Amino acid sequence: MQLVMLGLPGAGKGTQAARIQQEFAIPHISTGDMFRAAISAETELGATVKSFLDRGILVPDEVTIAVVKERLNASDTANGFLLDGFPRTLQQAMALDETLIDLNKGLSGVLYIHVPEGVLLARLTGRRICKQCGATFHVVFQPPQREGVCDRCGGVLYQRSDDTGEAVSTRLEQYAQTAPLVEYYRDRGLLRQVDGEQSIDQVFAGIHEILGHLQG
Ligand code: ADP
Ligand code: ADP
Ligand code: ZN
Repeated sequence: MQLVMLGLPGAGKGTQAARIQQEFAIPHISTGDMFRAAISAETELGATVKSFLDRGILVPDEVTIAVVKERLNASDTANGFLLDGFPRTLQQAMALDETLIDLNKGLSGVLYIHVPEGVLLARLTGRRICKQCGATFHVVFQPPQREGVCDRCGGVLYQRSDDTGEAVSTRLEQYAQTAPLVEYYRDRGLLRQVDGEQSIDQVFAGIHEILGHLQG
């Protein structure tokens, strides 16, 4: 299964991707996670992308495309992958098509988690992430058993710096560059839409059904 997840920032892509990865045993490839890991590790890539993430602006296409191309060449993608947060521009979508042709692969489907914009501010500002394992929580909608502590590994929860202040609204504006991808994939017969305003379990049930059909 070779999948792409589309959706506004805060739609629930990462939350659902973690479940899909577990259930279907395919690697979850998040460009946002890869960039944040590079910033933490203070690599050259981290230095290149930091100012973009801090402001909530998209990282330039050539940088992002190179990172994903390299990642898709890794052997763990042989039986499938789940791209989360990539592609985010038409240029990235076309580069992905070319890369998959070179690798003799194609997309099985594009999961589009649809939510009205009105729910996003509360989702983003309440989001908390485990420093240790990357699990996602929400102070109201998906609270951990102990405040500030990860249910899965006991790690400390933190708030992403771009989930506060100016960067939140900038990121929602940047989505204008991603919105055309809905039509791009619909035209190719790949789009599978899920209502992302339901509970996390209900959204996953919808995704599960779609993926069952894709697997045949
Ligand atoms: P994305 O990866 O699309 O930016 P996340 O999966 O990180 O979104 O979800 C954003 C925030 O909203 C997280 O704090 C998550 O716990 C919460 N969340 C995710 N899905 C739902 C849902 N269906 N209902 C309520 N809150 C949700
Ligand atoms: P969210 O989960 O809220 O959708 P991400 O973690 O996917 O956010 O992305 C965080 C930041 O990383 C973005 O604001 C952007 O700066 C950068 N980024 C992630 N994916 C891409 C991409 N495909 N193209 C350009 N920039 C990206
Ligand atoms: Zn954890």
